[in-house]
Amino acid sequence: MSETTETIFSKIIRREIPADIVYEDDLALAFKDVNPQAPVHILVIPKKPIPKLTDAESQDDALLGHLLLTVKRVAEQAGLTNGYRLVINTGPDGGQTVYHLHLHILGGRQMTWPPG
Ligand code: AMP
Repeated sequence: MSETTETIFSKIIRREIPADIVYEDDLALAFKDVNPQAPVHILVIPKKPIPKLTDAESQDDALLGHLLLTVKRVAEQAGLTNGYRLVINTGPDGGQTVYHLHLHILGGRQMTWPPG
């Protein structure tokens, strides 16, 4: 998929396509992954369209911290008291397919290591 700042996630933020949104604030949005890889699979994204983690800049430090605290909050809300896996696929080798930074929360089953 080509790298543009306009992605399907921008459309979800603008409510132009539907999503099962579980959390929102001024900086972040969280919604259920349409193709879940675990009983709980939620994506946390910044509203700012940073294509991938390697495009984040020093001025994004507070935003990146906010995203991690949002993961904590959303995981608690989803009842993941026994843990979960947090994944950020980055670039082609990382298997990233949507070029709007997103954090995968995967939980509700035992995760294995190494991932594929
Ligand atoms: P990645 O491969 O890390 O870029 O992950 C992209 C994720 O976005 C995949 O897990 C997809 O299933 C998910 N996804 C793509 N389109 C949608 C959508 N419209 N609503 C929710 N999740 C989506």
